[in-house]
Amino acid sequence: MTRTALITGITGQDGAYLAQLLLSKGYSVHGLARRSSTAVNTARLKWLGIENDVRIVDGDLTDLSGLTRTMRDVRPDEVYNLAAQSFVKSSWQQPILTGNVTGIGVTNVLEALRLEIPEARFYQASSSEMYGLIQEPVQSETTPFHPRSPYAVAKVYGHWITVNYRESFGLHASSGILFNHESPLRGIEFVTRKVTDTVARIKKGLARELRLGNIDARRDWGHSRDYVRAMWLMLQQDQPDDYVVATGRTTTVRDMCRIAFEHVGLNMDDHLVIDPDLFRPAEVEILLGNPAKAKAKLGWEATISLEEMIREMVDADLARHFAARR
Ligand code: NDP
Ligand code: GDP
Repeated sequence: MTRTALITGITGQDGAYLAQLLLSKGYSVHGLARRSSTAVNTARLKWLGIENDVRIVDGDLTDLSGLTRTMRDVRPDEVYNLAAQSFVKSSWQQPILTGNVTGIGVTNVLEALRLEIPEARFYQASSSEMYGLIQEPVQSETTPFHPRSPYAVAKVYGHWITVNYRESFGLHASSGILFNHESPLRGIEFVTRKVTDTVARIKKGLARELRLGNIDARRDWGHSRDYVRAMWLMLQQDQPDDYVVATGRTTTVRDMCRIAFEHVGLNMDDHLVIDPDLFRPAEVEILLGNPAKAKAKLGWEATISLEEMIREMVDADLARHFAARR
């Protein structure tokens, strides 16, 4: 029997890699995408060569009736809720939209699922940003949350409503507390991709400087390709649960940046400019996850190092800029 999956946020970084993984496992993959006046942005799916292999369904996380209809029509066995306003800095500019999509949107998906297909399995894309002002030096499933942005506050809501629907209605609903994960398909506004894209442009003579904010911040960075595997594994367990997904290594923005410059033989100090406008109203200074539970119960481990990932990203950005100039 072919299994059917519905991915909200299929046009995003993780949506694209997850779709690729599920297709490779023989799933019929449906993806919710927002209608816009231009065509649905399938650039990431195209990049992976799978844009014709998934079925796109019109929908928005804020529209319960549309979500309900989608559940009824598609009848997925597994629902992966990846859609969100996902950029922390924008969440101060658009706090209410972020709350509606990243927070209440989770309840909309859960309600639609509960009403139409309560037997389906559900994955919620929770975030290490929920730890914010960290309460323990290494964060695990039992570390208390202290969110530091409207985005993180909305994610805490999304996390707890997932736990609540599991406990209230017996849904097979799991929450993955994923630490930062990147790839050549990462949005250009996030720091890793901003760095790799700018380094590629500097190398090509298309830019001279890289402007960043707080380069002392530390993150536990992994690769999206590894992390979508953890999402899938969570939904293959008999019991739903919550899992931290991380590498267990933390690195400063400065050192991540140095890896990118060194890969193309440039000196970071010749190009890096600190821009006070890029600092945030409240910062998450350090994140470091403990993935022991995911390893023990899911058999999951990160396989791609930060160095390998940053080099892959720089190479992809060099290739993009080369292609654009031809
Ligand atoms: P992206 O920003 O790349 O993708 C977000 C997706 O959500 C896009 O497909 C976007 O569509 C869609 N979306 C946004 N608003 C709506 C809406 N109102 N209705 C329907 N769809 C909407 O995020 P990632 O792929 O990086 O992350 C996936 C999920 O994991 C997100 O929930 C994110 O918050 C969470 N997460 C990510 C981490 C990371 O490091 N990447 C870490 C922890 C959690 P469109 O293309 O139209 O904008
Ligand atoms: P986040 O952890 O989800 O906020 O992921 P980001 O990639 O957006 O940011 C990671 C860290 O890099 C944060 O601590 C930012 O303050 C820091 N940072 C420093 N300069 C920049 C910048 O120019 N852009 C972004 N996005 N982050 C930056």
